[in-house]
Parts: sequence; structure tokens; C-alpha cells
Amino acid sequence: MDTHTPALPTYDDVAAAARRLDGVAHRTPVLRSSTADARVGAQLFFKCENLQRMGAFKFRGAYNALSQFSDAQRERGVLAFSSGNHAQAIALSARLLDMPAVIVMPEDAPAAKMAATREYGAQVVTYNRFTEDREAISRRLATERGMTLVPPFDHPHVIAGQGTVAKELFEEVPDLDYLFVCLGGGGLLSGCLLAAKALAPGCQVIGVEPQAGNDAQQSLRAGHIVRIETPRTIADGAQTPSLGELTFPIIQRDVADILTVTDEQLVDALRFFAERMKIVVEPTGALAFAGAQHGGAELHGKRVGIVISGGNVDLARYARFLGE
Ligand SMILES: *Cc1c(COP(=O)(O)O)cnc(C)c1O
Repeated sequence: MDTHTPALPTYDDVAAAARRLDGVAHRTPVLRSSTADARVGAQLFFKCENLQRMGAFKFRGAYNALSQFSDAQRERGVLAFSSGNHAQAIALSARLLDMPAVIVMPEDAPAAKMAATREYGAQVVTYNRFTEDREAISRRLATERGMTLVPPFDHPHVIAGQGTVAKELFEEVPDLDYLFVCLGGGGLLSGCLLAAKALAPGCQVIGVEPQAGNDAQQSLRAGHIVRIETPRTIADGAQTPSLGELTFPIIQRDVADILTVTDEQLVDALRFFAERMKIVVEPTGALAFAGAQHGGAELHGKRVGIVISGGNVDLARYARFLGE
């Protein structure tokens, strides 16, 4: 058995990813809100990845990974299993790099998500969530067609790409005391930790996850990866059962703390974003702001970065949140 631990990505990988993404990914805006500042008693800087291409930061990691494929890999193409933002990120990146993409999705995935993925030019292969194992299907397809599987977070090139979110923020807003970042599998958080360590070593980086799915908090306390049942939360981008073999050691080494928030606190943050800041944010994208407001960190008078990770939300569902 292979007991070799894979090498962890470093800040150099984040800097290299930034060069690959230059002119391809949007350099997303940093928004301010005096009402938000007053709510938290701090100066807040919102890094808006809901305004990234395809609507979430995931484009950064996907494009960074696919742009490093060899010619042979490019010809056979990429395969991913996801019903969320990773699917669209891989599909769009594959189209831009002119390679085939297959996305494995449950047959009952939202029609809008499947349509968006197809619109980016990917082939969607469906499976039955109750009777079939998506990882087995994906591995079989990858072997049969010679395609390269790119996972949503536990991959060094994906982590490095996501780290460019924090790199841009630190370059634009120096002297941040805190940075709040949501987490599911921890790709975004671990990439941001690499950037913080190099560019803002005095900045405390705090991860925020749903209270119902606090596997990262449990993992930090236990000192090893804790796996949980798929959590019930409106933050569908953070419904991951565990951290990864690459993301956990980076988070364990560098994170200041991990906080949790409730679904009610997420809904409150979504309404704030819509009403006060005029931006559409998906529930997972509101974790960091909710964590800064309710997580108990002492932020008075501090300069605080908040990553808004994405804005892809079914409109009918979104309307229900706002109407609550
Ligand atoms: C995937 C995703 C997350 C979680 O990212 P990880 O790298 O798995 O921690 C958070 N927000 C949005 C919008 C996402 O799409």
C-alpha cells in the first residue's frame, strides 16, 4: 500500500496560479458597506466571488488545474462528479481550453444546473443516487475514456487556484487583522491560508462552516479527519462529509479558528446582502459574513476581510429565503 503523503501546495503555487488566471478570471471587486461595519463594529472588506465567472470562486481552481494538463490529457479531456459549482467551473474551463468534459450528476439534480453545465459544452452523464455509486461510475468512465478526474477540493492545483482569492484581497487591502472564509471540503480555506501566510502573516484566518456540518471543527479538536453524515443545511456548497488529505494538514497547521453558524443566521445574511448591498449571494456564500457577525470573535475596531464565495442560487428558493 502507498503510505506516501502527497506534497502540500505552497504560496509559490498560488502565485503561479495567479499568472495562469490573469486575464481569464475576473479580478472581483471588494465592496464596503457602512451598515455592515456598524453591525459588526469593525471595518469590513467583502471580496465578491459571487461576481466571478460562472458565479463562484470554483472557476479559479478548475481553470488552474486544467491549464496544467499535458497535451495527451487535453486530448482525452476532463471528468468530474458534481451537481454544484464545481461542475460548471470544470465545464467552462474545459470549453475555454478547448478540451472535452464529462460531468457525472445525479439524475434528480436541478434541471437548471444540468442545463447550465450543458450550455458550457460539457456532456452530462447521470446516475441514480440511490442505487449507483458515483465514484465507481466516474472511475470506470475515466478508465474507459482515458479522461483525467479533477476533484472539487483535494487537489494541489485546485487549492492553489482558490488561494488567488485571498492573494487579490491582500494586495488590494493591506493590513487586514482577520479574514473570514467559508469551508466545505476546505479547498478555498487552505488556498487562502497559503496566501495569508506569505502576504499577511499578522492576519488571523478564520474558517466558517454550518453548525449542522461542523466536521472541520471536530477534526481540528480531534487532531485527525472526522467524517460525518451529509449534513442538513441550506448551505449546499458546504455539505461535504469531511476535509481532504491535502486540505486538512494545511488547515490544521495555519488556521486561527473554525466557527459555526446556523441556517437562520445565513438567511439573515442573505437578506442583508440583497437589501443593503444589492448583491445576490447563495447560502454557502453567506457563511463568512454570518460567522463574523455571530461567531463570537472580538472584532471591535479591526480590519476584517470577508470572502463571499458564490451567488448561484435557484431563484424560487432564493425568493423563499428573502420572504421568510
Ligand atoms: C464549493 C463551494 C464552497 C466550499 O468550498 P471548499 O473548497 O469545498 O471548502 C463554498 N462556497 C461555494 C459557493 C462553493 O461553490
